[in-house]
Amino acid sequence: MRIPIADITPETEAAEIIGWVHEIRDLGGLAFYLIRDRSGIIQATIVKKKATDDVIEAAKSVSRESVVRITGPVRAVEKAPGGRELIPETFEVIARAETPLPLDVAEKVPAELDTRLDARFLDARRPRISAIFQIRSTVTHAIADLLAREGFITIQTPKVVAAATEGGTELFPIAYFEKEAFLNQSPQLYKQMMMAAGFEKVVEIGPIFRAEEHNTVRHLNEATSIDVEVSFADHHDVMNLLERVIVTAYEAVNDRCASQLEVLGVAPGVPETPFPRITYEEAIGIASAKIEEDLAYGDDLGTAAEKALGEEMGEHYFVVDWPTEIKPYYALPYEDRPEVCRAFDLMHPRMELSSGAQRVHRHDLLVEQIRAKGLSPESFEFYLQPFLYGMPPHAGWGLGAERLVMTMLDLPNIREAVLFPRDRHRLTP
Ligand code: ATP
Ligand code: MG
Repeated sequence: MRIPIADITPETEAAEIIGWVHEIRDLGGLAFYLIRDRSGIIQATIVKKKATDDVIEAAKSVSRESVVRITGPVRAVEKAPGGRELIPETFEVIARAETPLPLDVAEKVPAELDTRLDARFLDARRPRISAIFQIRSTVTHAIADLLAREGFITIQTPKVVAAATEGGTELFPIAYFEKEAFLNQSPQLYKQMMMAAGFEKVVEIGPIFRAEEHNTVRHLNEATSIDVEVSFADHHDVMNLLERVIVTAYEAVNDRCASQLEVLGVAPGVPETPFPRITYEEAIGIASAKIEEDLAYGDDLGTAAEKALGEEMGEHYFVVDWPTEIKPYYALPYEDRPEVCRAFDLMHPRMELSSGAQRVHRHDLLVEQIRAKGLSPESFEFYLQPFLYGMPPHAGWGLGAERLVMTMLDLPNIREAVLFPRDRHRLTP
């Protein structure tokens, strides 16, 4: 029976493996085949004087990246990877790979990101790339588990919608029979409606679509958002929750992904809590002092300001109490100073990781704020109605899964954290 390659130790007597031919080194009387599966690599050594004709014939004909099944005894060999090697008694080519390969899996030849993404199935055979997605999977599992333990209900909301969440131009129109429709920018309105439905704590991990035209290393046109909404909570409650979520993700990766982190050569550690919380006003002050630019109250924190703040604040910090004017209509202003709202961003020196807020739960105020943004309440009818029939106070946030993984693993480009990225130029594979 087949066993994972990583399970073979120098003490193993014999094994059957199925994997890809990672590398071939033929030295004449002796040939080494490195065989790889998801778990690891083993050397299969053929001593031509001792091997059967069938084994020699099959091995000679095989190309790199073909799938092979090999059975035979295992020997402890200090110089071999993992301190052991397999001596093939049988060598069967199950699926032959054509040559040349579109991409060198063994990474002898460096490839551009675009070439790699074009042949993503081969790229992802690389242990380094596979490690990223094993870690990403651990991150989303760990977060989903934590939220389930805390009593969250997992929901799925529509991705085909009639209205924009926040208006604006970041929308992809789609053909939906005779109606005008769009791909959803965020589950915001639907999560809030589920607060009116009495679900109290909801989470959705799903796609969000943004028709942003700019090409940056931290924006995708299709991203994954970890979105939560919590009733009877304020913005500080959900910031505490966000801290637990981030720490849980880092802990899970440190606990369960030691070999993947080693392959990637990174040691993310676990961030210290509590994350500092500074007000927007303080942030503007700190950033203005550090960069040449003069930032005025009400300005968005630009890239330079975010970088300067990061140097001062460290890995993770919150910027809270934003000007109402520059946050979405659903962010709740303070009663005694309505020009400031109960919104926050979770920042990392490289980029924003999450945005959240305590939300407006009063119908009249919400209508007023929608109007103030130049939007029309009529197009939000389905969203506004629940606010007339008992909407509890609530708060929530959206956290970009790719940005979380990207910052955790210090990846240079967000595209490295997505299997098949969608950007301005990329629609296949
Ligand atoms: P940014 O200002 O960095 O473009 P945003 O403020 O437009 O982000 P939000 O609408 O606040 O983003 O979305 C919540 C979170 O979802 C963001 O903090 C980010 O982690 C993630 N996110 C949003 N847009 C994108 C995108 N285009 N690509 C990748 N992640 C995104
Ligand atoms: Mg934001």
